[in-house]
Amino acid sequence: MKKYSVFAVAREAMRHHTGWTRAWRDAQPKKRYDVIIIGAGGHGLATAYYLGKNFGITNVAILEKGWLGGGNTGRNTTIIRSNYLQDPSAAIYEKSRSLYETMSQDLNYNVMFSPRGVIMLAQTEHEVRGYKRTAHANALQGVTTEFIGPEKVKSLVPIINIDGPRYPVLGGLWQARGGTARHDAVAWGYARACSDMGMDVIQRCEVTGIRQMGGRVTGVSTNRGDIDCDKLGMVVAGHSGHLADMAGFRLPIESVALQALVSEPIKPCMDVVVMANTVHGYMSQSDKGEMVIGGGTDGYNNYTQRGSFHHIEETVRALIETFPMVSRLKMLRQWGGIVDVTGDRSPILSKTPVDGIFVNCGWGTGGFKAIPGSGWAMAELIAKGQSPLTDAFGLNRFAEGRFIDESVAAGVAH
Ligand SMILES: Cc1cc2nc3c(=O)[nH]c(=O)nc-3n(C[C@H](O)[C@H](O)[C@H](O)COP(=O)(O)OP(=O)(O)OC[C@H]3O[C@@H](n4cnc5c(N)ncnc54)[C@H](O)[C@@H]3O)c2cc1C
Repeated sequence: MKKYSVFAVAREAMRHHTGWTRAWRDAQPKKRYDVIIIGAGGHGLATAYYLGKNFGITNVAILEKGWLGGGNTGRNTTIIRSNYLQDPSAAIYEKSRSLYETMSQDLNYNVMFSPRGVIMLAQTEHEVRGYKRTAHANALQGVTTEFIGPEKVKSLVPIINIDGPRYPVLGGLWQARGGTARHDAVAWGYARACSDMGMDVIQRCEVTGIRQMGGRVTGVSTNRGDIDCDKLGMVVAGHSGHLADMAGFRLPIESVALQALVSEPIKPCMDVVVMANTVHGYMSQSDKGEMVIGGGTDGYNNYTQRGSFHHIEETVRALIETFPMVSRLKMLRQWGGIVDVTGDRSPILSKTPVDGIFVNCGWGTGGFKAIPGSGWAMAELIAKGQSPLTDAFGLNRFAEGRFIDESVAAGVAH
């Protein structure tokens, strides 16, 4: 891999940019790998990357039925934060956030991490109490957050209307080192680094069956033939239930559409990320100037990768109360992704009933922020059979009633 640097840019400028090489090889499937990862989204690619980087396991293929990053990884609103309520969540999300801080240097790829700060608005007394509790929990967990009053919110977000008609802004949970990153770049950066370690990133390779013998995985069937492996990681987000079905077990997962939209580009007007969970909308401004807006999931299961129109209406209507300027914006684009939601709104990083198969899913509406931490932990689970970061997120928690409640208790879904 040629290192990207200011010298490389200067050198290529001198020779009319004829010397750049492909960021990753267009690999063909081999007969056998030590580890196969299904799904070249952020979580699958990060898992492969840390398998190589932390454990020296590089005979790895990442199989992707479409194009890499074409699932939720390339469709999300890129919010990064780690201000979760429960200890296991705070541990993995904070690990992830801290890896984002140095990801560009680590991958030698600019992922445009922008720790501009995230505010979660408190617009009811219940939310004030809830977010104060989360701030206290975060202090014990070593996650830096603070509960701020409405004046500080207004100073951070001058365009906000703190005296909203239905829900005035009573304060907010502020994480100064939360922010955003460029989602495609995260996928591309990991793919380039995996390819450089000798791993095969294979696009347009759909897994259609999972082969096993005596309760142990032996390989996968794909539209490009059978491929053998010792270990298999399923990292396919909204398609997890489908893949588990192929392997002969069930997952407590629902697949639903989550959508987002962007406005026309406007002058810089908001340099933090704002989440308004009571009215259910969140917004940030992209580097291009578009207001990036997200809302809630559709109320029914589906696999269509687009959302229903009433959700766009609801989300925009909700935001207009808090950000009246939104009423004068034209919306440019809308899209959807299929997210994988568990009952406690926490992920599953786990061994499965089939020996050698590991599953990483259930990140639902909020897994972009978790990509590096999840990859780090999942690689350890696959390599060593155990990881302190994944222990609480096993499938057994659903049988044992040990939920990690990040929805009802924390009051935030994303
Ligand atoms: C509109 C929207 C907004 C969001 N906003 C945020 C946010 O602000 N912050 C945040 O943290 N998270 C957010 N998320 C959630 C986040 O995008 C996801 O949790 C995360 O990207 C999941 O990554 P992944 O790698 O697990 O899945 P994906 O990126 O979906 O990758 C899974 C891959 O598996 C592939 N695949 C499926 N079946 C097969 C098969 N049979 N064979 C081979 N390949 C297969 C798919 O093609 C896909 O590329 C949002 C999601 C959406 C949709």
